Amino acid sequence: MDPEEFRKRGKQMIDYVADYLENIRDRRPYPEVEPGYIKELLPDHAPNKPDKWDDVFSDIERVIMPGVTHWHSPQFHAYFSTGNSYPAIVADILSDAIGCIGFSWASSPACTELEMVVMDWLGKMLDLPQDFLFCSGGKGGGVIQGTASEATLVALLSARTKMIRKLLETGDYKDQGQIMPKLIAYCSDQSHSSVERAGLIGCVKMREIPADDSGAMRGSNLKLAIEKDKSKGLVPFFVCATLGTTPSCAFDNILEVGPLCKEEDIWMHIDAAYAGSSFICPEFRPMLNGIEYAMSFNFNPHKWLMVNFDCSAMWVKDSQLVSDAFNVDPLYLKHDHQGKIPDYRHWHIPLGRRFRSLKLWFVLRLFGQEGLQENIRKDVRLAHEFKDLVKTDHNFEIIGEVKMGLACFRLKGKNDRNEMLLKAINEDGRIHLVPSKFRDIYFLRFAVCASRTTSDDVKFAWKVIQELSRKYLSDSSNENIQNKTSLE
Ligand code: PLP
Repeated sequence: MDPEEFRKRGKQMIDYVADYLENIRDRRPYPEVEPGYIKELLPDHAPNKPDKWDDVFSDIERVIMPGVTHWHSPQFHAYFSTGNSYPAIVADILSDAIGCIGFSWASSPACTELEMVVMDWLGKMLDLPQDFLFCSGGKGGGVIQGTASEATLVALLSARTKMIRKLLETGDYKDQGQIMPKLIAYCSDQSHSSVERAGLIGCVKMREIPADDSGAMRGSNLKLAIEKDKSKGLVPFFVCATLGTTPSCAFDNILEVGPLCKEEDIWMHIDAAYAGSSFICPEFRPMLNGIEYAMSFNFNPHKWLMVNFDCSAMWVKDSQLVSDAFNVDPLYLKHDHQGKIPDYRHWHIPLGRRFRSLKLWFVLRLFGQEGLQENIRKDVRLAHEFKDLVKTDHNFEIIGEVKMGLACFRLKGKNDRNEMLLKAINEDGRIHLVPSKFRDIYFLRFAVCASRTTSDDVKFAWKVIQELSRKYLSDSSNENIQNKTSLE
């Protein structure tokens, strides 16, 4: 592809992308293919001689699209929302063209410096405490990680190093090997699987604290566990609190958990992967109260802030503690300005990093805080609208409280009928949902995911659900009622 062809084909691709997104409603959100379908459509060797562009381009519809789950379809209501906007897509084109590997300031100064600026901008939009921001002149600051999973792991490894150093200084331990089996971390039993995984990768025990009836981790349960573990000679060092849990969007009580962590010198990390974006709205910001107790905080602009994957914003109060866990400094990476400005390679796991701040910068500038707030408020409004529709039908019940853009619901009665209903919904294919469970209650999650979702889409989804539920309502074998054991 020469430059002239690139200009032509690039424009053709932009048109394709705009058509794809603007007409996405016409596509079934969940694909109908079976595993292995692509292998049947493609040769088993790469071409020897170059293929023609037109053949590659036409294979997008023939080969790729039949197997795409359309996350940005207004009829996609699974998982949580994931960001998508033209400004972010355009910025990623630029990032790919620049193609720098911004592991240090010197490896591309703009890559580091823009990230510092936009992370401060975003931190201010969330009204984060000053000590998380570069502009405070302290040790705090923000970094863009690829995912919330990586942020949790970085936090856990930093906390681990901090505690190991502290214990080694006491002189009671001979080496790290003696300390590692004693370390224990905590999260709620509603935390995302990535938290358990961080414990596995970090080779530390992770204790799950049973959530209360609303799905929240409470200080009292955590305190009990910490005391019990300490009496067994274990060393609590890390708590991951979640704001907006994946199963039901519950909020851990960080105003209880935070002071406890402070008292026990435990690193509190807050995972607000989905709900964090909402804190740019003053009416949702009180849910972040208690952030002042956290050592690190993370949320995904790539979920609910119109930024395409991957862009996970993480702030730390003391970046030195993070660098301590990751700092290796070979000669070939050194430069003259070291120490004056962050070298982000010390803030995350891989060495290489993309110029991700560009898409955040484009989005923050081209939507403005007000535009982003509007999208969040719209999604919360639509989740409430769905909840109100569910409440009109006595066969259904709402599970938990609708706080963000997620409404959890189920057919009253046994779990089986809900499992069958979900299967029917996804086989039908007009909308796509995923299930969840709290204690023994199986329920369905209705997430408002796409920025294009409207009130009509919500009504459409409810119509589909009601229509498909009729079959299970007429099945009298299901009339045994499963007792609800809360989410309240
Ligand atoms: N934490 C929570 C609360 C989540 O809901 C999710 C994903 O939905 C994650 C972490 C994982 O996010 P990521 O894919 O960015 O690692």
